[in-house]
Amino acid sequence: MSASRNTHSSASDMPAASADRPSREEAEAAVRVLLRWAGDDPQREGLLDTPARVVRSYEEFFRGYEQNPHDILARTFSEVEGYDEMIVLKDIRFESYCEHHMVPIIGRAHVAYLPNKRVVGISKLARLVDAFAKRLQIQEKMTVQIADTLNEVLQPIGVGVILEAAHQCMSTRGVHKAGVSMVTSRMLGSFRDDASTRREFLSIVGNTNAFSVSNT
Ligand SMILES: [Zn+2]
Repeated sequence: MSASRNTHSSASDMPAASADRPSREEAEAAVRVLLRWAGDDPQREGLLDTPARVVRSYEEFFRGYEQNPHDILARTFSEVEGYDEMIVLKDIRFESYCEHHMVPIIGRAHVAYLPNKRVVGISKLARLVDAFAKRLQIQEKMTVQIADTLNEVLQPIGVGVILEAAHQCMSTRGVHKAGVSMVTSRMLGSFRDDASTRREFLSIVGNTNAFSVSNT
């Protein structure tokens, strides 16, 4: 077992300086403004506790800002008895929030890497996805962040990340198209350079559509 080093943290990992963070009361007041903007009365009984609930929900929706993705992967294991095959965690459900409309993006992530002597606990891959999902996001950026963090910290032979997600900003507003999902991928190292590695990943994930998806 050895601790890996953080080679560097990109600025996008740690946004939201807490220095100018508004108080809880200010946040609740902002929700009352939005309730009035929607056309309702924040003073009616059914809405009295809503600002407090919304603000608490935000703490859950956006808890990723409190997490350092590099730290999640910090503990690696080097004694893997020579295991050198692909490691895949597929169908990781995630809930994220569109940074343009602040409505949910619900999807699944498939995360794979080809280890170079070091592996990480499998649950850490799911936590890595959540650390980036629980922020305001666009799917393309989130895909890159997951893949690049895994690549930087573990320095594996290759990394493959595929995200499939439905965007409520498309289904409940705007063009109102339900049932469509967006697929994004990022392939690094052998996943990019070696067609057989990429094919193995895609067949494990079982998503042939991803063949036609370009790297983001
Ligand atoms: Zn949106």
